[in-house]
Amino acid sequence: MKIGIFGGTFNPIHYGHLRAAEEIAEKFLDKVIFVPTNITSHKNINDNIHPEKRLEMINIAIKEDERFGSSDVEIKRGGFSYSYDTVVQFKKKYKGDKLYFIVGADTYADVKNWKNAEAVLGAIDFIVVGRPKYGFKNIVKLIDFLPDNLKEDVNVDLNQNSLTIRQKRSIYFLNTTKLDISSTVIRNNFKNNISNLFLLPNKVINYIINNKLYE
Ligand code: ATP
Ligand code: MG
Repeated sequence: MKIGIFGGTFNPIHYGHLRAAEEIAEKFLDKVIFVPTNITSHKNINDNIHPEKRLEMINIAIKEDERFGSSDVEIKRGGFSYSYDTVVQFKKKYKGDKLYFIVGADTYADVKNWKNAEAVLGAIDFIVVGRPKYGFKNIVKLIDFLPDNLKEDVNVDLNQNSLTIRQKRSIYFLNTTKLDISSTVIRNNFKNNISNLFLLPNKVINYIINNKLYE
């Protein structure tokens, strides 16, 4: 099976994440597993509330769809969540499967600053989905975002819209539907009593209201 690991804070999960997962599952992979962080290392700790509740919101959103799953590995590990540790754990668990790491374009643009960035990029193929303001038109320019050590040995495949590092690991840039939705805006809308209808599933909206998550 081809399985995608979709990491993130998911505070909360929204249609930007879900639509990207849907298009990836339809065109490229058999399964997408959402992996919420325990504590997101690069974000303000105060924003990283309720790991279990963020996982619960994912489960509410993906319920009854066999192509989607969730994992609590990062929550169980505790502390700050680093993608490298998660990739290592998944590779042990899914030995017979082909794994991919899914990120949005803004996260890819920051990959240099990840802990063990080189090791992560050497361990798993990436799928990068677009976000508004981040274009994939000039794929050669996307090499710039890689750690310096890796930049020297990159092949560009214009047909597949992908980069291959050291002839081993590929990064696929997918032109999925770009939805200008972010969890930050959603949280602020809740705080300010502004409607969030159609930005995330109604069941997740109800869960947030019932649990008073973003008041
Ligand atoms: P926040 O505003 O709190 O940062 P977010 O909306 O960016 O939230 P994250 O949990 O940070 O959501 O994102 C998890 C992953 O999903 C990241 O790789 C991010 O790039 C990607 N992602 C988030 N929103 C979108 C979107 N609208 N379209 C495509 N990818 C997205
Ligand atoms: Mg984000």
